[in-house]
Amino acid sequence: MPKKNSRFYIGIDIGGTKICAGLVSPSGIILEREKIPTPVESSSRRSLLAIVEIIQNLLTDRRLTTKEIRGIGIGIPGLVNAGKGEVLVTPNMNLTGINIIRELRHKFPVQIVIGNDANLGILGEKWLGAACGAENAVGLFLGTGLGGGVISGGKLLTGYQGVAAEIGHLIVDPHGPRCSCGNRGCLEAFVGRWAIERDIREAINDGKKPKLHKLFKKKINRIKSKVLREALDKKDPVVTPIMKKSAEILGLACISLRHIFDPECIILGGGVIEACRDYIIPVVKKTIEKDKFFRSMRRCKIKKSSLGDDAVLLGSVALVRQSEGKEV
Ligand SMILES: [Zn+2]
Repeated sequence: MPKKNSRFYIGIDIGGTKICAGLVSPSGIILEREKIPTPVESSSRRSLLAIVEIIQNLLTDRRLTTKEIRGIGIGIPGLVNAGKGEVLVTPNMNLTGINIIRELRHKFPVQIVIGNDANLGILGEKWLGAACGAENAVGLFLGTGLGGGVISGGKLLTGYQGVAAEIGHLIVDPHGPRCSCGNRGCLEAFVGRWAIERDIREAINDGKKPKLHKLFKKKINRIKSKVLREALDKKDPVVTPIMKKSAEILGLACISLRHIFDPECIILGGGVIEACRDYIIPVVKKTIEKDKFFRSMRRCKIKKSSLGDDAVLLGSVALVRQSEGKEV
């Protein structure tokens, strides 16, 4: 393991709504893709079967056997013990408690590694994206929640139990709103899309009138990132100030992250950033420039993710490559 004639890697990104997998060349080119819906309210066994199915589909599409696969990397939306291969907590789907490596190895006898999705996102960006060549970098992935990952001294910062860099759950206000993790006042509870949706709902309930027709619906459970973008384009009086405040808080968090990790760059990615980057990134940059403490230091660059939706998929392949002792 890996076998001599094995030529490909498989990278898998398990997301909240879909599982994406790719057959990847050693240089990081995605040669084939597969996508299936995430079994959200199913048993852990069903979730595992979905992962088996997507790997099998990729192999079948290219008429490959596992002999031609060097390794499989999997990005998990939750807390993982990467060393043991165990999924500790997955809040949005059922994989909690599963030893994913042990389960999959019966079917696919190759090198299999797992990691937290946002951790792998920044690793992917370091290998082939916006953080390429950076030995110290932070990744913030803003979607429904806020995922974080840190590269320190060229390596992923994993911590004592493998669950480090949960930046979204940094408590920024002890009296702040309740977070998805159960604590109060986490960064995610101010900047995650679910938090933005909550603030928009509250503003409408308080009698504020949005310009964007779609936002008038009685029950807004989920506002897509592109709808937020549309509202910003229209200078919507409800959405604009909420997004501005959220971007400023994200910028303040970047100042703190800079003080803790001294990164060369902070990479911003995820669905909300992809859709609303023209609004969010300038505010984040402006906010970080106000930092008085590190003002005489060299700049920490704020950059948009360049791999976009492929960051986790390629990062999971980067993790396999690191396990083979290769530089990424
Ligand atoms: Zn939290």
